[in-house]
Amino acid sequence: MTTPTGKPPVVPYIACWSSEHRPQGTLIVRGGGIAYADEGPYERDDLGVLWKRVGLSPGRGRPEFGNVHFLRQRRAMRKQLCQICGGPSDRTDDGTLWLVGEDADYPDLHKPGYVTTHPPLCVPCAVTSAGTCPHLRKRHVALRVKTFAVAGVHGVVYQPGGLFPVMCDAGGIAFESWRIPWVLAGQLVMELQEFTLVDLAAEHAAYLKRTEARAGLFDKR
Ligand SMILES: [Zn+2]
Repeated sequence: MTTPTGKPPVVPYIACWSSEHRPQGTLIVRGGGIAYADEGPYERDDLGVLWKRVGLSPGRGRPEFGNVHFLRQRRAMRKQLCQICGGPSDRTDDGTLWLVGEDADYPDLHKPGYVTTHPPLCVPCAVTSAGTCPHLRKRHVALRVKTFAVAGVHGVVYQPGGLFPVMCDAGGIAFESWRIPWVLAGQLVMELQEFTLVDLAAEHAAYLKRTEARAGLFDKR
């Protein structure tokens, strides 16, 4: 797979690799929600939400663009890491940099409380993604987010159905929802509470200025 420029694409930090698939195990109904029949101690997060099963071997096999590895997605959200390179995302006094692509037409984008499963980015990766990522190339919106909070999970929702739970829905479920014991989580959802829309080209120029100034400081030493 190559980009239109002929360069091999960068594999995003949060992308899944073909070697990381695991058998999903049998789900059962237990204690007013779903559970794995053979559930181990690390299958739920600190809020008790059940997560999909996944291996951890990035770089082995084929990269699966568009298929998100939830452990890395979750880590990127919690630690504010760039979703592409896995380094720190960019934060200035105006907030942390986020890039919103396919949701650019979402009517609530201009209101606080916008939710996303996409982790933030650093400036160079945001610029590259906006140029190479098919859904971002057409239309993207850059945001500086001052306040945000983990709000829920995105996953498959089940309901009781005889011996085994039955899949009934998929989507984002808030931590406060009564449906949370019935969800098999696949991604963490972040609520962007206080943010402003910014121009990515201007952000890039400011970033280059900042890094040049920093390099200048080192030169004088
Ligand atoms: Zn990056």
